[in-house]
Amino acid sequence: MKLQTRAVHAGDRKATGQHVPVTTPIHTAASYFYPQSEMLDKIFGHEEHGYAYARYDNPTNAALEQLLASLEGADGALATASGMVALQATLMTCLAERRKRVLCAEALYGATVKLLMNVLEPYGVETHFVDLCDLDAVAAAIAEFQPGCVLMETVSNPLLRVGNLSRIAELAKAANAPVIVDNTFATPLLARPLEHGASYVVHSLTKYLSGHGDVLGGAILCSGDKLEEVRAMSRVVGPVLGPFESYLSMRGIKTFPLRMERQCRNAQQVAAWLRTHPRVTRVFYLDDPQHPDRANVDALFRDGLYGAMVSFEVEGLDKAGVFTLMDRLQLVVRATSLGDVHTMVLHPWTASHRDVSPRHKQRTGIRQNLLRLSVGIEDAEDILADLAQALG
Ligand SMILES: *Cc1c(COP(=O)(O)O)cnc(C)c1O
Repeated sequence: MKLQTRAVHAGDRKATGQHVPVTTPIHTAASYFYPQSEMLDKIFGHEEHGYAYARYDNPTNAALEQLLASLEGADGALATASGMVALQATLMTCLAERRKRVLCAEALYGATVKLLMNVLEPYGVETHFVDLCDLDAVAAAIAEFQPGCVLMETVSNPLLRVGNLSRIAELAKAANAPVIVDNTFATPLLARPLEHGASYVVHSLTKYLSGHGDVLGGAILCSGDKLEEVRAMSRVVGPVLGPFESYLSMRGIKTFPLRMERQCRNAQQVAAWLRTHPRVTRVFYLDDPQHPDRANVDALFRDGLYGAMVSFEVEGLDKAGVFTLMDRLQLVVRATSLGDVHTMVLHPWTASHRDVSPRHKQRTGIRQNLLRLSVGIEDAEDILADLAQALG
């Protein structure tokens, strides 16, 4: 079945008995009752599948996890309280019996860099940053640094660079380092990293998958044996998603392919329009025939869908100029997130990349006059009209 169909059906109607709810209810119970103690004993002993305690799992989360696994082509999933805790749990599982070294992309989500530097480094985890679009540099870094795992994003933020995932996964595999891919920006509709050699996929459900800006959540997806290790840790630590958020995520995902297809089409129109605007000097969007990673984009992205993030530079604008432009927007929302139904704008220099050193910003190409749009599902003409009046 196609992803669009699975998004609507997977995970639902797993209950048994006379009355089966068509959509999965919110199960809030902290613990579960069985008429015979023998049954709970078997569940505790993992001899039989069943629910015992909400930190281990619950039927609402199980339905969402089945849905997510179906979309990504994974054996299973763990739904977590945020995208960040999904990344932390994955890194800790990967590094448990490996060298405490993470080789990661130079351009990573800001909080991910902080997770590595501020949270994991004090526990002895070393991080080495590399330009993932430079395969020779990746090969050299793997040989010299001997990482315990590799961490990357399908597409980087906000300049939309795309590495050669299959080749990186081969290089990492030869060094016994699993590859973790944060697929939040691409989503499983556009790219499925597990099919290209990734060992783990991590998501922030907060973004496109939930899609309405009203849920904080994350997920880890991988093969069955790896998931068992993740779950063993999760059962003890409890980074799990709450059942209300689980329900909202599942509800959001049913329309995710519809929304995403439209967001991608809108983004393509916005990028095309920006390219013709006299004040706009550069446009970053994945449909660009001159994109520096064209071959990698074509290998990874499906069905001519290139995502809904568009970044652009406006000639000669300093910080104050950017703020004036942003404040003129009436439809486009100034907000620190992405992937929602509404179009959003962000100034990477002062927001997502605020804590990144000026040198690192310069090296990775984040300039003061750069703006990032997360294009929503509105009518494209209305988005363009708002951008036009703000740009003047
Ligand atoms: C938002 C985001 C995260 C963090 O997810 P939260 O749900 O906010 O914890 C991680 N990676 C990427 C690429 C993101 O956009």
